[in-house]
Amino acid sequence: MTERLSADAQGIARAAELLRQGWLVALPTETVYGLAADATSGEAVAGIYGAKERPSFNPLIAHLPDLAAARRQGLFDANALALAKAFWPGPLTLVVPVSSGCEVSELARAGLASVALRVPSHPIAHAVLQAAGRPIAAPSANRSGRVSATSAAHVLEDLDGRIEAVLDGGPTEVGVESTIVACLDGAPRLLRPGGVSRSAIEGVIGRPLVLAGEAGMAPISPGLLASHYAPSAGVRLEAQAPRSGEAWLGFGPEPDGLATTGHALNLSPRGDLTEAAANLFGHLRALDALGPAMIAIAPIPMHGLGEAINDRLRRAAAPR
Ligand code: AMP
Ligand code: MG
Repeated sequence: MTERLSADAQGIARAAELLRQGWLVALPTETVYGLAADATSGEAVAGIYGAKERPSFNPLIAHLPDLAAARRQGLFDANALALAKAFWPGPLTLVVPVSSGCEVSELARAGLASVALRVPSHPIAHAVLQAAGRPIAAPSANRSGRVSATSAAHVLEDLDGRIEAVLDGGPTEVGVESTIVACLDGAPRLLRPGGVSRSAIEGVIGRPLVLAGEAGMAPISPGLLASHYAPSAGVRLEAQAPRSGEAWLGFGPEPDGLATTGHALNLSPRGDLTEAAANLFGHLRALDALGPAMIAIAPIPMHGLGEAINDRLRRAAAPR
């Protein structure tokens, strides 16, 4: 059963406590209800994908109570700082390079070296963030393919029993989504139009905003804006065991004699898909850093989070 919390001091404190413990809590935001989880915990973030039944991993926005907290997670250049000062709290998301102390999990960043940060203005969301004291991921609180929830009752229609609690802040206003601007290389780019207008942003940065993917633009630096982290090693899927020279990424019990064949990690020795999702990007990156020509990957079952994991692995294995 999903707990229904009222949006008073007690409910807000309870929501923050549940988030700190790694549970999923739906919260009202400026736009629709968000499905919140501790962004620093890969397992909590995996829970978001599990509850939503989302068939693929995309990077999530990490929400913070103020600019100072956001600056601990990402590196703000002059443009990012000016935009944050002008529009936070509010419907602007900034994609910036991760700071050395960034706590946002690799799963929440989909393996990218950048992080999407936002300081929301909704008073209830803000109070929970303040009390939680850590970055909180919060995509829309609906099952994949269903309409976004604009009330606690809508949230429960989709997610009752799949999330720990819903904080009932009444109907949300169904505003527009946040505008997403990437400040990664000195030329701010518009990744998604939203609640803060292009002209308002251009007014702050003092020059035209480049549209991501606009014709005639310099190619976007790989690894920064690339929406998917790709290992430099080749990837061999559905492998029963590593061949000579291959690194090995296991799932569940290891094949006999594995210990003798070189670099190996296991997404979840006990065969748990939530644990596997939480480890996915970190383990791929760690094996890739060892410089193998090929990473052989054990079969991952297709149920639950397995669908999103397999989607990601297929992309990693696609010819480049
Ligand atoms: P939302 O659906 O409102 O939660 O917004 C999530 C969007 O933020 C996704 O569509 C992502 O494409 C975008 N996003 C989040 N992190 C990044 C990132 N590091 N780089 C580029 N886009 C990002
Ligand atoms: Mg949605």
